[in-house]
Amino acid sequence: MITKSQNVRYSRQILFTGIGEEGQSRMLNSRVVIIGCGALGSAQAESLARAGIGKLRIVDRDFVEFSNLQRQTMFTERDAAERLPKAIAAANHLREIDSNIEIKSEIADVNYSNVEQLIEDCDVVMDGTDNFVTRYLINDACVKHKINWIYGAAVGSYGVTMTIRPDVTPCLRCIFPEAPAAASAPTCDTAGVIMPIVSVVAAVQVSEALKLLTGNEENLHGSLMQFDVWRNEWRSISTGKPSGDCETCSLRKFESLAAESAEFAAVLCGRHAVQVSPSHPMRVDLTQLSERLAPAGEVKGNDYLLRFRTGEFEMTIFQDARSIIRGTDDISTARSLYAKFIGN
Ligand SMILES: [Zn+2]
Repeated sequence: MITKSQNVRYSRQILFTGIGEEGQSRMLNSRVVIIGCGALGSAQAESLARAGIGKLRIVDRDFVEFSNLQRQTMFTERDAAERLPKAIAAANHLREIDSNIEIKSEIADVNYSNVEQLIEDCDVVMDGTDNFVTRYLINDACVKHKINWIYGAAVGSYGVTMTIRPDVTPCLRCIFPEAPAAASAPTCDTAGVIMPIVSVVAAVQVSEALKLLTGNEENLHGSLMQFDVWRNEWRSISTGKPSGDCETCSLRKFESLAAESAEFAAVLCGRHAVQVSPSHPMRVDLTQLSERLAPAGEVKGNDYLLRFRTGEFEMTIFQDARSIIRGTDDISTARSLYAKFIGN
């Protein structure tokens, strides 16, 4: 099952009693999806690639910026200068870490229309997102398809994580029936974030993934774990069984997967930017678009995106016709720029 070179590469992990040769072989035959490749996703992706997870799918909607480098360990100055999409930059680095595993990049915003397809055929989904809208989407899709997923969040010096196993543990909605009100919850925008808490949360998430993938379910922590590395607080609240009256896991109402609840424009945390998505899935020809936009402003780009500057705004346009519009926090301004330059 395990080749000679794999035996060498993973020797310290094979020696570990919880894993052994059988566990390693199971990991090499597993597929893990990482949704969001920012700080948490970077740490998860690197650990999982090094551990020899055979297939990794990296999903991210954004490109690398200099303000990411303080905590998003996957990326370098060159990635930021080239504005590479995070899913592409991460895959490039992961291939240098392990050229034998299969790594797939998905430059996409996770929404009701693609989430089920993105998590398809995978053994575990890792939460590397930064918002509850996407987490409820992941929760709905994972509960519906009975796929384990590992919630994680970090802001300031505080972090939280929980492992969700449909039918066995509570789901995200059992614990958080409603998303925290936008104004009350601290965000990376208002509270900043330091890298050590990211490392702690990602380490616990990855440990849980390894336990699930190697059949060590009895070692899962079974709780909502909370950490504060600045205040030195470590708490773990046992989560027990599913709540029994949850809309998602008991009544199987998958509200987030319904098109009516989809949001097509969203203000991005801490960026003075708004993301606008097309109302239906589509592809744009970036070369053609670039020619069309040239008379109206400065256009630059790479194989994956275009950057268009007009007045005080900067629009980044991806192949899936999404645009991140910088220079405003106002959704209607962003929508009208989108309509004017890209169409609808
Ligand atoms: Zn539930």
